[in-house]
Amino acid sequence: MRLRFWIGLVAVLLIAAGSVTAALVVHANDESNFHEMQQDEATRSARQAEAVASLSVGQLASASAFVQAEGTFSEHEFDVVAKPLLEEGVLSGAAYIPRVAASQRAAFERRYGAPIFEKGPKGPRRAPRRSVYFPIAYAVSQHGSAAPVGYDFTADPGRAPFLRRARDEGQAVATPSVQLLIGGLGINVYRPVYRDGAQTATVAQRRRALVGFVAGAFRIKDLAHAALSAVPHAVSVQLRLGGGSVVGAQGQLEDPDSAPVHIADRTWLLVVRDPNRPSVSLPLALAVIGIAMAALLGALILVWSRNERMEELQREASEDPLTGLKNRRRFEEDLQLAMARARRERTTGALLMLDLDHFKQVNDTYGHPAGDRLIVEVADVLRRRGRASDSLARLGGDEFAVVLPRCTPVEALLAAEGIADAIREHQPPGEEIEPVTACIGVAMFGDHARSSIASVVSEADSAMYAAKDSGRDAIRVFDPLAIREDAPPSN
Ligand code: GH3
Ligand code: MG
Repeated sequence: MRLRFWIGLVAVLLIAAGSVTAALVVHANDESNFHEMQQDEATRSARQAEAVASLSVGQLASASAFVQAEGTFSEHEFDVVAKPLLEEGVLSGAAYIPRVAASQRAAFERRYGAPIFEKGPKGPRRAPRRSVYFPIAYAVSQHGSAAPVGYDFTADPGRAPFLRRARDEGQAVATPSVQLLIGGLGINVYRPVYRDGAQTATVAQRRRALVGFVAGAFRIKDLAHAALSAVPHAVSVQLRLGGGSVVGAQGQLEDPDSAPVHIADRTWLLVVRDPNRPSVSLPLALAVIGIAMAALLGALILVWSRNERMEELQREASEDPLTGLKNRRRFEEDLQLAMARARRERTTGALLMLDLDHFKQVNDTYGHPAGDRLIVEVADVLRRRGRASDSLARLGGDEFAVVLPRCTPVEALLAAEGIADAIREHQPPGEEIEPVTACIGVAMFGDHARSSIASVVSEADSAMYAAKDSGRDAIRVFDPLAIREDAPPSN
């Protein structure tokens, strides 16, 4: 019983642990799928932002090609190459400035819609005496004077370091987020332009060969818009430069995924948080059902083991511990039942009282344990001989009782003889113990309506003692008539 109880308890714990594990696995799986989806969204958004940026960075290449060709264009070639770039917005402005007299300058400025300046050693200076092709990024009016100047990027401390880096590294370089001249927050990308055909292998060579820069500006909003267009409407997107969020949802997003955005030589981070997080209710339900089942099973096992223990106690209370036969208390109950039924059914039954002969000698000769084994063997002999309806009991010591329901005196005698023969013929195994014999007293019940348990037991007892008196290994049937004859006359 104990083993089954523990096995049951282990099963309950396994069910509970199994359901919790299953819930955790389902939850982990949901989480992993969610992050896979979110990561996919982040990567798609980042690629989209990169695509927008790289389109502009690519356009810078066309602009730089234009600048490189400075000095070799004819006016006609300038019109063919520069105008499409101006129309596409790759160049903010460009001017063809032939070698002209100062008096003609105004006419050219009117023609290109912007005043034309060239960077001189002491700041912007008026148009040169030779023909030049000049990209114009921006123009401002200086102190309200009528004469605007070109915007000198290299004089801007916010931009100069990146221009120098672009010049020295010979590649497109991006600024961090800056206030753009075209308005709004954004990123500038500078691409160095070297003299056509010049050596640019070393930093010194690149510095000598530098002609100028082409600059591209991307509004962060445009990048974010491009990124957002790649994900569903409800998804939160943040573009992060360095630590902080530059655009999109503010603050720290809960459990987000991110992907890098490469623009020129810089890497930004695009952070994505999808609101469609899988709910924990299914795994929770799994765990709750599992634990509830385990608790139910546990309660059943407790009730069942308690019942089993009760039965065990009851059995122990009505069983002879040495032989497993019924004990005296249970024997008396069985005898009472058998007598009641016999009266009801108007049948007869018999009680056989059996006592082994000279059993003390067995103990004395072979020891008490050997005597115990012999008692167990006699109990087995009784079991083999008995019918299913018979009740077998050990009343103590070497004394046994057999209740035979529904039997006649002749059948009872035959049964007693069978038992006596079987005990006599039983050879105790292994040791040199001699076979034993027994005396059996038989008393009938059911034929006399007023007989009690005590009287039937005492009748069987006296028959058994009569058998002992006759010299052992004998059977006697209690004879009420003989006793009545012997009894003193009552008055
Ligand atoms: P008798 O022929 O007159 O029956 O003689 P006996 O030697 O069998 O004597 P009796 O039936 O009066 O006594 C039974 C003996 O059985 C007494 C005791 O030493 C022994 N005995 C009682 N209970 C146990 C037991 O549980 N185990 C063993 N081995 N011996 C027991
Ligand atoms: Mg005896």
